[in-house]
Amino acid sequence: MEARLLVVEDDHGLRDVLARALREEGFEVRTASDGRSALLSAQQPVDAVVLDIGLPDADGRDVCAALRAREVTVPVIFLTARDGVTDRLSGFSAGGDDYLAKPFHVAELVARLRAVLRRSGGVPPPSLGDGLTLDPAVHALRAPGGTVPLSPTEFRLLACLLRAPGTVVRRRELLRAAWPDGAIVADNTLDQYAAKLRRKLAEAGSTRRLSAVRGVGYRLG
Ligand code: CA
Repeated sequence: MEARLLVVEDDHGLRDVLARALREEGFEVRTASDGRSALLSAQQPVDAVVLDIGLPDADGRDVCAALRAREVTVPVIFLTARDGVTDRLSGFSAGGDDYLAKPFHVAELVARLRAVLRRSGGVPPPSLGDGLTLDPAVHALRAPGGTVPLSPTEFRLLACLLRAPGTVVRRRELLRAAWPDGAIVADNTLDQYAAKLRRKLAEAGSTRRLSAVRGVGYRLG
């Protein structure tokens, strides 16, 4: 399962760019444009929050404090236009875990998110048996003998298969889960990725079998 993010940003251009980029990184993303809708959205399960400090109806630090008061303990990364030490400190005292000054590179945000998710334990990693887990924080298969890295596409594919172990997942569903909306994917691309995934599962020491059901889809046995 991908880590679930709530991105709270009132600048809709930035919000869209972040949502798209974070989804491409394999996160499940929902967005809010102000403090009120952020608090509503945070009533649903979430694994980390990206929170703009300068929101139209509230200060992001107050939103964070309100989340903490409701015992939402997941990591919060503040976004701010200001880079003053005072802001940074008050961000942390409001219960934030990290802080990023605008403008920033999405890659920087992704790295920090993975770091805070790793520290918090994030989502309990889905287990594949044989002592293996799928680690959403680092996009990898963790095995007793080491870690096998996965590409974002392989990760999303495996996460999708793991949601329905032992049953056939249709090709259309796998394509939708693993590739961005509107992507043109050649017919055999899915099969090539399935083959790579099979090799990586074997490399990690998994005894599970990823089998093709011709014309229908794949099953992780
Ligand atoms: Ca703002």
